[in-house]
Amino acid sequence: MGSLSSDKLNNISSQQISRIKTRDSRMKRNLISFFTGLLLMNFSQSELPPSKAQLPQKLPVGIFYSDLFLNHDTGINHPESPDRLRAIVKTIKNSSLHSPLLWPPFSEATPAQITRVHTPAYFQLIQKEIGEGKKLLSTGDTVLSPGTLTAALLASGAGIEACDLVMKRKISSGFCLVRPPGHHATTSRGMGFCLLNHIAIAARDLQARHGIKKILIIDFDVHHGNGTQDIFYSDASVFYYSIHQQGIYPGTGHPRETGEGKGKGFTLNIELPAGSTDAEAFAAFQNSLIPAMKQFKPEFILISAGFDAHHADPIGGLAYTPQGYAAFTQEIQKLAKEYSHGRTVFMLEGGYGLPGLAASVLEVIKAISTP
Ligand SMILES: [Zn+2]
Repeated sequence: MGSLSSDKLNNISSQQISRIKTRDSRMKRNLISFFTGLLLMNFSQSELPPSKAQLPQKLPVGIFYSDLFLNHDTGINHPESPDRLRAIVKTIKNSSLHSPLLWPPFSEATPAQITRVHTPAYFQLIQKEIGEGKKLLSTGDTVLSPGTLTAALLASGAGIEACDLVMKRKISSGFCLVRPPGHHATTSRGMGFCLLNHIAIAARDLQARHGIKKILIIDFDVHHGNGTQDIFYSDASVFYYSIHQQGIYPGTGHPRETGEGKGKGFTLNIELPAGSTDAEAFAAFQNSLIPAMKQFKPEFILISAGFDAHHADPIGGLAYTPQGYAAFTQEIQKLAKEYSHGRTVFMLEGGYGLPGLAASVLEVIKAISTP
């Protein structure tokens, strides 16, 4: 370099500089267009809707209803009337919900499924009495009609199908809009408007066909579910929790009733005095059920969803509101997410004031359809 003249050096340098400048500006342009391209690409991607595969799968809520439930004819002025389901279905169909609803078909529970819970003698008795045209079941205050047996068998079948579809991840949760109700029916005795214990039949089917070991049944009907308690009283695989009004039909459900034998400690009864509100029920629910489930850790949650604790119900004496039922449901959903892979199925039990019943069921369905 020392042998080169300063002019030559200057010339070379200016040529090199100009080449470098040209190269730099080309690189700069390339870089700018590269980054602009990236930006544009990102922008245009964010404008496009994500493909179906990218979205987390949002499952529908299943509603299990059949017009055949209306054929269980209880006569004029009976509180457990077909109008209950008509009011609920109409309200649901006129509402907008967060998730799509699925109304899956289902069939009658089989004799084998029924007799996992009820004695064969009792199952024969109800078929015989309905066949003979009796108006009232001989074991308790349950009205019978020609359409009663089909309705009851279908109601049990609805619970079984709802559990099946939850287990197969076809629905996120199920609500069975059925009648006659079920939670007062014991293994060998129908009573309290009930014939077959649908929720117990669903629980036994989950255990037999899906290998579910531990099931929680939550019963928030205003009445104690004496039948369900009785069926699982000495069974540690099904935890029965009931929150109900103190001192009314059927007279069971005292907090000292906690199970027997292997089932000791797997029944939990909470009594509320007449007039108790959402807040009182909610506090009792949180203080009793949530700690118990830390031990039990259910794999599936079934809910005996009665709405006769609504403040305007003509039979019950508690003072819940539809928003209270929604709050209960949100707590149940939290429990299900924590222990049960989100698995819940609701079975309709009581609830006799039509506007309050329909509004409360809708709030529960809204709560379970909210992700
Ligand atoms: Zn009830």
